[in-house]
Amino acid sequence: MRAFVLRKVGEVGVIEKPVPEPGPNDAVVRTTAAMVCTTDVHTMRGAIPVAPDVTLGHEAVGVVHALGSAVEGLAKGQRVAVSGVTPCFQCDSCQRGFSSQCLGRMLGGARFTNRRDGNMAQYFLVNNAQANLAPIPEGLSDHKALYATDMLSTGFVAAEHAELALGETVAIFAQGAVGLSATIGCRLRGAGLIIAVESVPARQDLARPFGADLVVDHTRCDPVARILELTDGQGVDAAIEALGTPQTWEATFRVTKPGGRISNVGYHGEVPEPLKIPLEPFGYGMSDKQVYGGFNRGGRGWLRRIFRLMETGKVDPTPMTTHEFGFDEIERAFRMMASKEGGIIKPLIHFDADSA
Ligand SMILES: [Zn+2]
Ligand SMILES: [Zn+2]
Repeated sequence: MRAFVLRKVGEVGVIEKPVPEPGPNDAVVRTTAAMVCTTDVHTMRGAIPVAPDVTLGHEAVGVVHALGSAVEGLAKGQRVAVSGVTPCFQCDSCQRGFSSQCLGRMLGGARFTNRRDGNMAQYFLVNNAQANLAPIPEGLSDHKALYATDMLSTGFVAAEHAELALGETVAIFAQGAVGLSATIGCRLRGAGLIIAVESVPARQDLARPFGADLVVDHTRCDPVARILELTDGQGVDAAIEALGTPQTWEATFRVTKPGGRISNVGYHGEVPEPLKIPLEPFGYGMSDKQVYGGFNRGGRGWLRRIFRLMETGKVDPTPMTTHEFGFDEIERAFRMMASKEGGIIKPLIHFDADSA
């Protein structure tokens, strides 16, 4: 089979690999569609050390090709989605409810590419298949189901960690695919005022229909001053960091009111310095502000909940898909994702049905 791999830091390519064989609790899925994620770009740049020629990708859907002997309740040929995070759902961390940090390891649930091959390949292996594979409902397209695997999952986790009460105010820093998904999530959670911070016109245009009441362009004004002005000097009840820069991180402290929540889903691994917390907006340590950093939690139940929101028409994330490619064009899609050229937000990758 063909797999899109990281040959070494900075160099990607398509190579031949054997089709994986499932262990007793695993499944092997034949990929039908996938999406490239900014995380893959971070990995390509060496943000996370990985094995040579490891397969990239963690956002894919497909059909069950093979099942391990102990897997029940799934059938060959069934359409399935798998989260970008595949926890074991058996260890202490998972049982405590922190499946993202499976096995007590930071980000331990993120196995694709980090601990084994990812799923930007014609076939891929899924650990703990019974807990991690979610059958895709008949009326739900592969395209929509793909958004549940990471973008909506992570954006909705950000909205949940913001703990919005009905009518509260929230500021969301950056409207990439995760930030846009957080905007959708905050609207679903009943935010009264959603302020999105974004300068790219195409992303601003998506933010509004997804739920942003106001869009602040940080290239035209000081976003902190503007958000304080828009909230009568009080600040917002919650701020979401969906970019991963020191500036946006610090801004979340400056725009939240005392007792507010800061929900971080931005990946801060590309800047090696420790993040700073500005003292005055943190009440010198006594502001009653809470900070929560998290990401996609994985699992069949969580995928099903997101599917339900799409099945009933409450959420349609597909306007975020700006480009479509065949798997044979994957390198071009990846290059565009790395440079963000052509206004790319999410590229959808189609896999040829009869290739193997
Ligand atoms: Zn992703
Ligand atoms: Zn676990």
